Amino acid sequence: MDVVQALYELQEMEGDLQKSKADLAEVVSRLDHNEGVARSRDRSTRVNQAFTKLQLQQSELDVDVQETTDRLKELEQQLYSGNTAASKDLLALQHEIKFTKEKQSGLEEKLLEKMERVEAGQKAVATIDAELAAAESAYENEIPTLQEQQQELELHAKDVAAAYQTAETAVDASDLKTYRLLQKSKGMAIAKVERGMCSGCTIAVPSHELQKLRTTTTPMRCSSCGRFLFSPVG
Ligand SMILES: [Zn+2]
Repeated sequence: MDVVQALYELQEMEGDLQKSKADLAEVVSRLDHNEGVARSRDRSTRVNQAFTKLQLQQSELDVDVQETTDRLKELEQQLYSGNTAASKDLLALQHEIKFTKEKQSGLEEKLLEKMERVEAGQKAVATIDAELAAAESAYENEIPTLQEQQQELELHAKDVAAAYQTAETAVDASDLKTYRLLQKSKGMAIAKVERGMCSGCTIAVPSHELQKLRTTTTPMRCSSCGRFLFSPVG
């Protein structure tokens, strides 16, 4: 096989390996972490915390209302028992009853508002929990496909790596050294000749060189960028 062609194939395999590794990393990260699920979970935590707080506030108000109602009952019993004879005490009692009634109705109003907010909170919790469940199930459905992709990519990378090793040993050591040096300085060592141009530097290859490239088996390098020139037509 032509040296340049062999090196070009190495270069292609290197590109393939790089892409497979990047794809594999992407698949592994998607298996490891699902953005949709994570976001839903965060929202669910926040909404549930707010709901728990509302419930607590409601039960505190419940207790306050109950205490005020009990107190009112006590005061009214006192009033109707007839035990409070002195008009001064009676007046104070009536005052306290009035005050307690006002307090009771104020608390009841607050409780009603709180109950409405609890109800709305309950709906919000149900919505977000349904969203979370949907996101989780979508993710779970995605897992087998991702695992399959992971397996395929791992297998492919293994195959390419093995083929690469074989191909690498077939290339002459000094050619390989030149290739590596070019790769280090230019990123890409072998440039395809496309429409008479070096694809590495996009400068036209002189026609006499193009002609030579078609017939020779000796590696030729671009006179502008120094990359090995590869003409796939041969
Ligand atoms: Zn060039």
